[in-house]
Amino acid sequence: MARPFDPATREALVARVRFYRELGLTEFYRRPIDPALLVQIEAEASISQETRPETRQNLGAPGLASETGETASQTSTQEDQPIPPRKPLYAPPSIPPTIPAADRSAALQMIREDIGDCTRCALHKGRNKLVFGDGSPNARLMFVGEGPGADEDAQGIPFVGKAGQLLNNMITAMGLKREEVYIANVVKCRPPGNRTPEPDEGNTCSPFLFRQIDVVRPQVLVALGATAATYLLGQRQPLAGLRGRVHAFRGMQLIVTYHPAYLLRDPRQKKEAWADLQIAMRELGLKAPAKT
Ligand code: URA
Repeated sequence: MARPFDPATREALVARVRFYRELGLTEFYRRPIDPALLVQIEAEASISQETRPETRQNLGAPGLASETGETASQTSTQEDQPIPPRKPLYAPPSIPPTIPAADRSAALQMIREDIGDCTRCALHKGRNKLVFGDGSPNARLMFVGEGPGADEDAQGIPFVGKAGQLLNNMITAMGLKREEVYIANVVKCRPPGNRTPEPDEGNTCSPFLFRQIDVVRPQVLVALGATAATYLLGQRQPLAGLRGRVHAFRGMQLIVTYHPAYLLRDPRQKKEAWADLQIAMRELGLKAPAKT
């Protein structure tokens, strides 16, 4: 059985894992054990067991306090031994204070400048225009898509192609204008052939999305499709299990629905998507405009 962490270490670990999830990093591995170190430790442990029979075999550096604050002689069996963090655990950055409405445009501009003429991942190689985001910096509703397609790459604006037309219709059906919402994507450069972004691409780019979200701080976020949901929620789950309810997200409300491109391929799901958008409308206190 795994040895339980002390409460402070546990709290720090939970906070760090949550932080990584917010960055879209969801896969964690135990650090592999260096075989040479293992041999050395086993040798030293058997010597110390001969001299101190109460001491159990361990993987920590013998006699040194580990980073979790325990000495090696307090550790449990090899399998039970958690791999100590390489560095002390820091608390993740907390949700930044709300930026005054008047400063949000400039704050978004700063993020855009930080991105610059980005070459952080391979997607830049096929890019015509980087697609940062579009809409009101003070929006109460924000949509998050996956990544630019060909039209977006040509114009530098998210959701301007066929899927964008459908998204515009959805926004209108909610009683809003496109200029009143904010729209951004997980990745800011078009994946070749509109493929799903690779994890390293999504993980490299999504911190900028998180910064945009923290600036706009909409009341409601709508994740369009599985990729957006995965990077925002930090967990890969079938869309079916995520739709139809409100998720808590950095002090905001997050709703997951189908991507408009999927709805174009399977229009039968539009009813379901509309049901999701109605949840968003309920949270925002919006009423659908009367049909003319
Ligand atoms: N699909 C997306 O996910 N984002 C866009 O901007 C366009 C299409």
